[in-house]
Amino acid sequence: MNPKLDPCPFCGREDTPTLTTAKELEMCRNKECTLDYRDCYAVAVVCDYNKGGCGGCGGYGSTEQEAVDKWNERAERADGGADNA
Ligand SMILES: [Zn+2]
Ligand SMILES: [Zn+2]
Repeated sequence: MNPKLDPCPFCGREDTPTLTTAKELEMCRNKECTLDYRDCYAVAVVCDYNKGGCGGCGGYGSTEQEAVDKWNERAERADGGADNA
C-alpha cells in the first residue's frame, strides 16, 4: 500500500514524507501516549531525516489511514494561512 502523502508543510519537500511507526522511530512523540514505544502501535507520517527532510511530524494515529489523514490535513492548513514567520 502506498498512500498519497502531501508535501511536507514545514519544508515543502515532496519526496521525504514517510509513513512510519513509533517502533521504527524508537520513540513515540505523541504527548498523550504513556506507553513505552516498544508497546506502542502508533503510526505517524514524518519528514524523513534520512532522505534529507526536516524531521517534521504530522501527528500520531492508531492506523496508517489516520496518520495519513492527519499529515494531509496539516499540509492543507499550512498552505492556507501562515505567512512565512
Ligand atoms: Zn505511543
Ligand atoms: Zn519537512
